[in-house]
Amino acid sequence: MTPWLGRSGFGEAPTIAIVRAFRRISAGVRMGQGYPRPMVRAVLFDVDFTLALPGPELGAEGYRKLGERHGLSLDSARYDVARQAAIASLQHHPELEHDDEVWVAFTERIVRGMGGDAAGAYECAVEIVAFWEQHDKFTLYDDVPRVLEELRGHGLKLGLISNGSRDLDGFVRHHALDVDCAVGSRAFGRTKPHPDIFRRALTLLEVEAEETAMVGDSYEDDIEGARALGIQAFLLDRDGRYPDEPGRLETLLALPAALGLPGY
Ligand SMILES: [Mg+2]
Repeated sequence: MTPWLGRSGFGEAPTIAIVRAFRRISAGVRMGQGYPRPMVRAVLFDVDFTLALPGPELGAEGYRKLGERHGLSLDSARYDVARQAAIASLQHHPELEHDDEVWVAFTERIVRGMGGDAAGAYECAVEIVAFWEQHDKFTLYDDVPRVLEELRGHGLKLGLISNGSRDLDGFVRHHALDVDCAVGSRAFGRTKPHPDIFRRALTLLEVEAEETAMVGDSYEDDIEGARALGIQAFLLDRDGRYPDEPGRLETLLALPAALGLPGY
């Protein structure tokens, strides 16, 4: 009990609430964004291109080889441009409900952008999308195990929020990820940036938005989605696509310092 607050006349419960609020603010204030923010208690991560790198089956050569089986002649040199064009034109479900066909259409656009503008493009896309559900087609980036362990060492809760069709709990087990919750859009029903998928993770972790950080590689889904709820968000820009984004991280190794954790 803090004596001066104990005599304040607010009664026991309000006094405890005031002390807790005071401790949260005074122990963890971060002034970097111009206003006080409580110490972070939880970190949410996107999965693809944030923690996990898709294997060759889901890259330029993988598309080309699979295209051959569907009678398509795909130019692997056109993959990057085709993928960026597909991202730019990606049509989310209007209510941000999870819809497997969105991902098939996205992938088909890449296939066609690589020169596969013929019959067989849809079936090729369906087969490629199925790879995204296979956990062994992905590897964790080198910085992931170390950073997750460091965050755990500071007592932080950790969670995943991922758009996609995979069984996210199975993915967590396969890659031995030490996290407290995993919210996948197929199981949950909504995709990022819908606020409910972020709220679901906050509820599972029993934390408030203002004491949570989100890390991801998609500006629209991860960064804008999180910030809309008051979650501080860090864009992970491994490929240097957003040089002007304030607070961008080039590697997860920069995250503990960005969070203001003691000792960094
Ligand atoms: Mg991602």
